[in-house]
Amino acid sequence: MAQPQPQRSDWRQTWREAITDPRELLGLLDLDHLAAGLPAADAGFPLRVPRGFAARMRRGDARDPLLLQVLPQLAEQATRPGYATDAVGDGAARAARGVLHKYAGRALLIASGSCAVHCRYCFRRHFPYAEDTAAAGHWQQAVVYVRDHADVHELILSGGDPLSLATSKLAELSAALADIPHLHRLRIHTRLPVVLPERVDGELLAWIGALPWPVAVVLHVNHAAELDTAVADACTRLRDAGALLLNQSVLLRGVNDDVETLAALSERLFACGVLPYYLHQLDRVHGAAHFEVDDPRAEALIEALRACLPGYLLPRLVREEPGKPSKTPLRSVEMPESIR
Ligand SMILES: *Cc1c(COP(=O)(O)O)cnc(C)c1O
Ligand code: SF4
Repeated sequence: MAQPQPQRSDWRQTWREAITDPRELLGLLDLDHLAAGLPAADAGFPLRVPRGFAARMRRGDARDPLLLQVLPQLAEQATRPGYATDAVGDGAARAARGVLHKYAGRALLIASGSCAVHCRYCFRRHFPYAEDTAAAGHWQQAVVYVRDHADVHELILSGGDPLSLATSKLAELSAALADIPHLHRLRIHTRLPVVLPERVDGELLAWIGALPWPVAVVLHVNHAAELDTAVADACTRLRDAGALLLNQSVLLRGVNDDVETLAALSERLFACGVLPYYLHQLDRVHGAAHFEVDDPRAEALIEALRACLPGYLLPRLVREEPGKPSKTPLRSVEMPESIR
């Protein structure tokens, strides 16, 4: 008897229906008056927001933390010393087509250049994806690289967003890697289950469930309001398929840089079956300086958070520095009166 085909959702259609006109987004949110403040050009990084994500924004609130993550701002045009296009040394770490190998034991694949949402603070907004994704050429260079490097025990699919690829394309990769004995783990860094939970369909779950390695899925959520019931359900489905769920956030001025917001995020993540992993200090990328939270304040926030959450809900505050053997933890400080 034929096996029933796992159910496929029409997530690509939902993807195509994303909002790409900032004026339309502002109109939906009753914020038309902000259109006058939009930058004239998008600096090669246009607005992109799935409609389901926009639906989680509060109408009439120009400071909505989800809106601030995606709306182009005039402030992006300011240049600031120390801000560059390749802020994290990706250019130097390129080991093969679409492969970054910076840290012992794990290699990272730029699996795809596409994302379902465009985050204004993203350190990869200037990365030359189109020429350099691992999926091009049927993954061949990436698979050869992993096979030839016996010290690579974990492969991280990143991007862009690796789940922007068709599941059949991901299956092509996992099939080519399946017989490599030194590969022990697969990790997927993705924002798609958050911004387009339709992506977590039966076909994807069947693929994850059948992989020959333990799988960690690292989501990217910056604010509790991103986690509505559709996302919570997608998280449950991923866990039921056997994935360990972690989250990384970026500390963003005006979005999540206060203790209550960060505590609520950790609590909501746990309710969705996700543990906080990293809280990243912003990468110093051109156009993102207005999101920066300075280190003393970031360190003080984490100390204040430590005082109100169980240790397992406290993310590790880190920064990525070119040439270092790991992400760099920020130091601990005494909690200043201003934060308490
Ligand atoms: C961040 C990163 C990793 C993963 O680091 P972990 O500390 O293991 O999460 C791996 N490779 C590259 C190139 C990275 O930028
Ligand atoms: S790589 Fe991640 S943070 Fe950057 S735009 Fe894509 S989804 Fe957003």
